[in-house]
Amino acid sequence: MAADTREPQQQPNELPKGFVIGKDGKPCRSCTSKKDFASWAQMTKSSLKSGAGGTGAATGAAVGAAAAASTFSQALPTDDCPADVETLGRSTWTLLHSIAATYPKTPSVAEQSDLKTFMGVFSRLYPCWVCAEDFQVYMQKERIQVGSRDEFGKWLCEAHNAVNVKLGKDKFDCSKWEERWRTGWKD
Ligand code: FAD
Repeated sequence: MAADTREPQQQPNELPKGFVIGKDGKPCRSCTSKKDFASWAQMTKSSLKSGAGGTGAATGAAVGAAAAASTFSQALPTDDCPADVETLGRSTWTLLHSIAATYPKTPSVAEQSDLKTFMGVFSRLYPCWVCAEDFQVYMQKERIQVGSRDEFGKWLCEAHNAVNVKLGKDKFDCSKWEERWRTGWKD
C-alpha cells in the first residue's frame, strides 16, 4: 500500500504496485509489505530466467536484486526477519497509543515538552521513509495536542485515522480510543 513515486526513487519499469525503493536506491523493506516484496522477487527471478537482464551494470544490478529478493522471500514464513511496512506499523501504533494511554491526565510542562520532542523526532526517524514524510506533513497541518491524556489520545487517533483513510481502511471511532488502548472494552 505504500507505493510512491517521489524523488529520489528511481524505480525501474514494471515494479509491483506497493513496492518502494529506499533513498539509497535499494529495496525498502520497512516501506513494502511482505506480499509486495514477494511479488517483486518473483518478477525479478522470472525476468532473469527469460534473459531480459541486459548487460553490464544493469545485469549486475538485476542479479544483486534477485539475490536480495531470494534471501528475503526465503525468510518470509518466519517471524525472525526484518519488519515489513505492516508489522512495523502495527508495532509502532501499539507503542504510540500505549504512550497515550499512560500519559498523565494533567501533564507537567516538562512532560508536555518531552512528548512534543519525542513525536517530532519520531516523525523524522520512522524507518518507512514514505510514511515518515507523510506523517511530518500531517504534523505540520494538525498541530500535536499534548495538554492532557485525552487531548493527545484523540489527536493520535485522528492521526492514525488519516493513515487508515490513505490506505483505504475504515476509520476508527475515536470516542473509543481509551477502551481500545487503556481500559479494555466495556461489556
Ligand atoms: P493498524 O493500522 O496497524 O492498527 C493496529 C490496531 O490499532 C488496529 O487493529 C485497531 O485495533 C487499532 N486502530 C486502528 N485505527 C485506530 C485509530 N485511528 N486510533 C486508535 N486505534 C486504532 N503503511 C503504509 O502502507 N503506508 C503508509 O504511508 C503508512 N504510514 C504510516 C505512518 C505511521 C506513523 C505509522 C505508525 C504506520 C504507517 N503505516 C503505513 C502502517 C499502517 O498504518 C498499518 O500499521 C499497517 O498497514 C498494518 O495495519 P493493520 O490493519 O494491522 O492495523
